[in-house]
Amino acid sequence: MHMTPSVRDRADAAEASKIDSLKAFRSPGRGFWSDVPESDWTDWRWQLKHRITNLASIERLMPTLTPEERAGVQLANTKLAMAITPYFFNLIDPADEHCPIRQQVIPRLEETHTAPWEMSDPCGEDSHSPVPGLVHRYPDRVLFLVTDRCAAYCRYCTRSRLVSNATGYDFHPEFDRQIDYIARTPSIRDVLLSGGDPLLFSDEKLEYLLSRLRAIPHIEFLRIGTRIPLFLPQRITPALCAMLKQYHPLFLSIHSNHPRELTTEVRDALGRLADAGIPLGNQSVLLKNVNDDAGVMKAHLQKLLMCRVRPYYIYQCDLIAGSSHLRASVRQGIHIMQQLRGHTTGYAVPQFVIDAPGGGGKVPINPEYVLSHNQDRVVFRNFEGKVFEYPEAADGTPLARPAQISETELV
Ligand code: SF4
Repeated sequence: MHMTPSVRDRADAAEASKIDSLKAFRSPGRGFWSDVPESDWTDWRWQLKHRITNLASIERLMPTLTPEERAGVQLANTKLAMAITPYFFNLIDPADEHCPIRQQVIPRLEETHTAPWEMSDPCGEDSHSPVPGLVHRYPDRVLFLVTDRCAAYCRYCTRSRLVSNATGYDFHPEFDRQIDYIARTPSIRDVLLSGGDPLLFSDEKLEYLLSRLRAIPHIEFLRIGTRIPLFLPQRITPALCAMLKQYHPLFLSIHSNHPRELTTEVRDALGRLADAGIPLGNQSVLLKNVNDDAGVMKAHLQKLLMCRVRPYYIYQCDLIAGSSHLRASVRQGIHIMQQLRGHTTGYAVPQFVIDAPGGGGKVPINPEYVLSHNQDRVVFRNFEGKVFEYPEAADGTPLARPAQISETELV
């Protein structure tokens, strides 16, 4: 019997088709730089040298800049500089003011509006810094800041007080002092290199740091936090991967927010890192009109798995000064987590966290699944909202007698 698709069926089909389209791998191509030789285009140093960094160059490429963006670009050098690699720029849709790529890297006037609860150092890093460039907030691990430069600058960056040096922070890491502190603190077993972006260093300079850290007997585990595979996949050369693989166990956390960032170039770059045996995780920031939609987020997380990357965290956007226009709500974050858990592969489901304002560390934020813990049972719901029971005493001890558990689900 022929059935006419219901409105709901049509809406589901449209949603599925949107997700499929977002998950397709595409290359942005040369776009505005079609006359540049292949050898230059694929050279990461060429890409860095030709970044878009000022109003004249961005207006030439994108005459559709809005008044808010134009004002933002003019003010960027006093807050957080603008820099966009040509490769990444080609991902922007100039015809769409709400393009999710555009929102992440093109400054806006709203960045100059600071809400009373916003801060310049929302995670309290400076107050947990025993030596310049080192943050020791958790007992067994440290954050090792190596540089204040990135390949491109994210408009919501939690470290915008120092990256790009637009505010005159004058960041000067002292590698010898940082390494010396780690060497004489045996409780530290895990070092995260970040910044700024450590992969902006030459292979030699990065290897110098990794080899010195690896030589410390109590360092079990090294990590690098980087957005370069997304902004500048050309940097992930076979030589870099061959160098990195000598320093295992070494994990890499990338930072990607939207499925359109996961291009064929990015997939290939991540494949090279994975082939070097480097476990890859992703950290996303929940951003308004970028990825605060359950369908977009699900497509992104599933596409990360296709790139051999395990989604690790979704961060509630930190209370960084001038970020209100990009901040999605915690409520929406919880809603998205609810749409993920049980609805897709467990490996695709990251942990949603708030980095507690002022320096309290990452706190997991979850939808509520436990409804009650009574005298003899835990009552909980599953991803479909069906209610179940599990026999257990309120204090967690095993029950002397089996509880009378209903066999039917309490929907
Ligand atoms: S890449 Fe990381 S450190 Fe650099 S601007 Fe973006 S969020 Fe900040």
